[in-house]
Amino acid sequence: MTTATRPVPGTDTSGPASPYQSYVYAYPHKTAYRKLPDRPRLDALWAAEPKDALSLYLHIPFCEVRCGFCNLFTRIGAPDGLTGAYLDALERQASAVREALGEREPVRFATAAFGGGTPTFLTAAELERLCDIAEHRMGADLRAVPLSVEASPATATADRLEVLAARGTTRLSLGVQSFDDTEARAAVRPQRRADVEAALARVRDAGIPVLNIDLIYGIDGQTERSWLRSLDAALAWHPEELYLYPLYIRPLTGLGRRAGGTDPAWDAQRLRLYRLGRDHLLAHGYEQQSMRMFRRADAPPQGADDYACQTDGMIGLGCGARSYTAALHYSFDYAVGMHEIRGIIDDYVSRPAADFAHAEYGRRIDADEARRRHLLQSLLQAEGLRTDDYRARFDGRTPADDFGAELSRFAARGWLAGDGTDSTLLRLTPEGLAHSDAIGPELFSPAVRAAMAAYERK
Ligand code: SF4
Repeated sequence: MTTATRPVPGTDTSGPASPYQSYVYAYPHKTAYRKLPDRPRLDALWAAEPKDALSLYLHIPFCEVRCGFCNLFTRIGAPDGLTGAYLDALERQASAVREALGEREPVRFATAAFGGGTPTFLTAAELERLCDIAEHRMGADLRAVPLSVEASPATATADRLEVLAARGTTRLSLGVQSFDDTEARAAVRPQRRADVEAALARVRDAGIPVLNIDLIYGIDGQTERSWLRSLDAALAWHPEELYLYPLYIRPLTGLGRRAGGTDPAWDAQRLRLYRLGRDHLLAHGYEQQSMRMFRRADAPPQGADDYACQTDGMIGLGCGARSYTAALHYSFDYAVGMHEIRGIIDDYVSRPAADFAHAEYGRRIDADEARRRHLLQSLLQAEGLRTDDYRARFDGRTPADDFGAELSRFAARGWLAGDGTDSTLLRLTPEGLAHSDAIGPELFSPAVRAAMAAYERK
């Protein structure tokens, strides 16, 4: 499940002045990927890549309902046999990918995650199989690395959680969004608070070390009071992590059908609720990691948070997952509309193993894009970007050499601590962090921007 979260960059309908342009959780976005005419072989793509600290991601594209704000690659429900056929295909893909990684040097996974969709849409027995695929086909040692799993309240059942805990899950992320039943309905995610509380109790009973709760602000009818009530309801569970997501309305989603144009009043409401939420969590012993992420100061350390996205070397399995080498990001076809998604999933489950030895859709990452990606994904973290890391990675260049104009603009708006020329650390101010969703898109390259604009939504 999840994270109500991962909006599509460049697709919101607000004007350029809005702090809410798009959530840049990965760069470049999949709407900048294109069919790769040469269908490169994975063994060639991975031959020269370091393989001793890869990330593994398994994508399960099924949910019980489609939340009104969600544009993730997922379908509602699954006809008889589809989840089994999907796991069969996942197994074929895992075997093909593992073979492509080769045996010449050790392959080691440093983190693992099951995302979606809602991984816990699978039954307990199917989750066992999912873990088997990660362990036996890919060689990931799930009990030895951080393993993060997304779940919805209705599917976080005791039997599934028991499997996940036993197989080594270190972090369970529950998409709650709101503890207020009326707000949950307004976000087109009907659920009752009593059911959410019961799910949280089951997660705590399962003994998974890190509980993350996702909440959304900016819902129709949400007030400062009701927002604080949701925050306090979440805090009562002492979650190790909390993600606070601004609501986005995106094309082709349930809420998107009612989308209007820009809405300064809504922007102001979201900014107000953001500041309120941030200050509330800071006052309750949480540390801010990024605009959305807060971690309890005494929580056990985790390796697999959104900062890990910055590293190269990601193996994604499943039809909505991306994989990253240093020079190519790739995946399968992408869609948001339900009909198209169903078609892509049906196509995925019908593929023979040989198909999975190639990359089909993707985007090449040249030196400029690699620098942008590093800047973007470091700068949007509260701890900022260390310029010596940047220098070491990019031949002695500095962020100011490559992005001086952008950094001066951010500094002039009060978003950057100092004047943007600090020689050791580039860090956003609190207002800069609040405007993360405007800063990210401003750092997209002209080529990525053009590809995203030319992408035909489906
Ligand atoms: S539709 Fe599924 S993936 Fe999207 S937010 Fe809801 S539970 Fe998460």
